[in-house]
This record gives sequence, structure tokens and C-alpha cells, in this order.
Amino acid sequence: MSPPFRSANRQAHVPRYLYIVSLERSGSTPLTFNLGLRPGFAALGEIDRTLELMARPGGFSGRDCSCGATIPDCPVWAPVARESPVLAAMRVAERYQRLDTLLEPVLGADTVVVDGSKPLATLQAIRPVFDERLFAVHLVKDVRAYLESTLQRMATMDQERLWAEALQRQPLRARLVRALPDSLVYLLRWTRQNRAMRDWLAGQDMSWLRIGYETLCAEPDAWLKTMAKLAATKTDQAQHHILLGSFGYLDSDRPKTLTLDECWHRSPRRRLLDVAHSAVAGLNRELAEPFVHHASSARSITT
Ligand SMILES: [Zn+2]
Repeated sequence: MSPPFRSANRQAHVPRYLYIVSLERSGSTPLTFNLGLRPGFAALGEIDRTLELMARPGGFSGRDCSCGATIPDCPVWAPVARESPVLAAMRVAERYQRLDTLLEPVLGADTVVVDGSKPLATLQAIRPVFDERLFAVHLVKDVRAYLESTLQRMATMDQERLWAEALQRQPLRARLVRALPDSLVYLLRWTRQNRAMRDWLAGQDMSWLRIGYETLCAEPDAWLKTMAKLAATKTDQAQHHILLGSFGYLDSDRPKTLTLDECWHRSPRRRLLDVAHSAVAGLNRELAEPFVHHASSARSITT
């Protein structure tokens, strides 16, 4: 396995913040969790939403950290929870800056924090905060697997409540979206958002890796090692402190490995998925292909 390699004009540096940028239902929770089992990483789940909830009194009532501690006893989240009123008045970048300051004495400068937040907007907001310490993984699920998983999930949700919320946020857009079939709405979402992530990363002088979830699942150990190498992990300690992510994954008793999502093969809407796939086959292939961009021209990787 030898991913394509591209270099930028920058001296080698040591990132210590790994951000997973992806759509929902694309495998970010299993990837975050499994990185947290490897030496050098501290997986903190979806940090942006965690900080958002921490800013609200009672935001996390009853939920314990994945390390087994309650929030007031968790070494990572207890100091953050104590700052709830301060966080409430802050924007995303300022909250991350505060988190960085609070975690330095807890995790140490050599630990690589794993953030499974996902949105591109959050990555763009925190880019100046972490600068050269930031490394991104763009995780892309095969469009058929993404559509099947998302449409299945939609079927279990309260459509009228979702519609009322969308209407309140963006009335015109909500009406347009409601007029389209869900499969088309999510196909457009997969295409538009993944293109935006690809294009933004291509213009960044920072280290990043793009990988298809299916490619990752074919050789998880090799790819997790690659990520550790690219993020320059240094310590022997593995830890996770996850409060938010896909609860279906986090709370289940099933083994927490990186496993292929093959439901779409047996889906009753298989023909529809194949038609959707044929419309974006080129992009689906391009995004699944592993691609490494390193901010330094002085290093290369082997897997
Ligand atoms: Zn914890």
C-alpha cells in the first residue's frame, strides 16, 4: 500500500491535534474510538458539540465519560465542565482555545487529541487556533453505504418535528428540500459536502489524509499506524474520554472494531442506490482512494 504523496513548502512540524472531517454516518465514531485505543492518542469524541453542551447548565445530565468516570471525576472533562458559564459566552474557536489551555497540564504536550466533530466549518474555525499542530483525516463512506445508512436512520425519526425545525431555520431551503425525494437530497449532500471538504483541504498547507471508510476497514491496523505516524504520536499512553458520538456504536455491547457497513448490498432499494452511485461514480472512486498530503517535504511515510 503506497498512497500518493504530495508536499508543501514548509518545515517539518509536530501536529498534536487530529480532526476527523466527514459527513454524519461515515464511520467517524468507530475511527475516533479506535484511535483512542492506540498509544499516543487521547480520543475526546465530538468536541464541538461536547463544548456546546458543556456551555449549558445540565447539558450532560446523567451521561458518564467513556473512561468510566462521571463528568465531575473525569480528568479531561471535569475542568472544562467547571468553566460552563465562561464557555457559554464564547465562539467555537475561543472554546477550543480554552480547552487547549485546560488540557495542556492534563494530557501533556506530546499527546495527540482526537476530535471526531466532523463539520468542515468547525475545522475552518479552529485551523488558526492550532495552526501547525493540526492534522486532518477526511473520512468518506461509499455513497451507497452512506445513503442506505442515512435513509434507514431517517425512517426511524420524527419527520414532522424535523420538518418544523428545518422550516424555522431556513424556510425557503426547507420547502425546496421537502419537495425532493430524500435519496436525492442526501445524494446532493454527500456530493456537495465531500467536494467542499476535498477542495478546502487541497488549498491548506497542513498535513492531512483522505481515506474511504471501506479502505480503512480493509487494513485498519496499517491505517491507524499511518495516522499515528502522520500525527507524530510520542507517548505510550492510550486513552479515551468520549461523551458524544454515535450512541448506537458507543453504547452497544458489540465488539468495537472498525467493520465494514455492508447493509446496502442487501437493501430493498439496491437499484436506487446503484443509480445514485452511477451519477457520482467518478467522485466516489476518487474520494475512496487514500491520499496523503504532508505539510513537510522532508518526510515520507510507509505503511
Ligand atoms: Zn473521561
